[in-house]
Amino acid sequence: MSKFKNGAKELFQIAVNLSKGVDLSVSEEVKAKRRKICEECPHLTKLGRCDQCGCFYMAKTAVATSECPLQKWLKEKEVWNIELN
Ligand code: SF4
Repeated sequence: MSKFKNGAKELFQIAVNLSKGVDLSVSEEVKAKRRKICEECPHLTKLGRCDQCGCFYMAKTAVATSECPLQKWLKEKEVWNIELN
């Protein structure tokens, strides 16, 4: 799956989870740790997007079901994981 399809899939899954009333937020501590990792990563572009998944890191790092495509940081929740082809 291409990096932008991965980003689209992640956004879709966030929308599904939110529509089910699932709390997808992470603690401020987790968010700060994730953001520090991204900010030191060579794959973060000047526009604040990850060049591996196409996501905006400020949003991506705030979502519990998100994870780094290179496994530099991991998801906290696995809920309503919808498979898309
Ligand atoms: S999500 Fe992962 S690969 Fe992308 S910028 Fe952050 S640490 Fe780097």
